[in-house]
Amino acid sequence: MSSRETRYSGTEITGEEARAGRYLLTRYETELKYSWSSGRAISRFLTGLRDGELWGRRCAGCGRTMVPPRMYCERCFRPTDEWVRLHDTGRVATYSVSYVNADASRREGEEPILVAVIEIDGASPNMGILHLLGEVSLEELAVGSKVEAVWKPRSERKGAITDIRHFRPIRGGLRRA
Ligand SMILES: [Zn+2]
Repeated sequence: MSSRETRYSGTEITGEEARAGRYLLTRYETELKYSWSSGRAISRFLTGLRDGELWGRRCAGCGRTMVPPRMYCERCFRPTDEWVRLHDTGRVATYSVSYVNADASRREGEEPILVAVIEIDGASPNMGILHLLGEVSLEELAVGSKVEAVWKPRSERKGAITDIRHFRPIRGGLRRA
């Protein structure tokens, strides 16, 4: 048997009554400060980004090289084994054309944002990172396009995924990390 509560004991306060000042109101602004540990795998990954390098983590059980790296393999139920330096190139696994900004406002008269999952060279298939595409037109963009990272200058990097400005198509031949 279940019953649903529709009335609660006590006196309901309506918004109107509150605005009319019928009850004591106290306003305060909170200033919340907190820090968050990235953990071993992501800390190393972020340090690598600062140094202009992409690092993955290999599991000897299933042989997968994972990026973003993790210390534990969810497939084998065991710790992963070693760090693997990856290339800063890859291919577009999937992408999306966005006409809204991150805050959901419209991009009126602006170019759309191209968001993609990039499968990184050196990591296992279906291992990719979410990032932006740049220096590419919608016409030439396709799933499977080969792309390379465009890094910020060393002095501007701070150990964040945004240390890579975006990925752009590899044009006219070879370029390998
Ligand atoms: Zn594994």
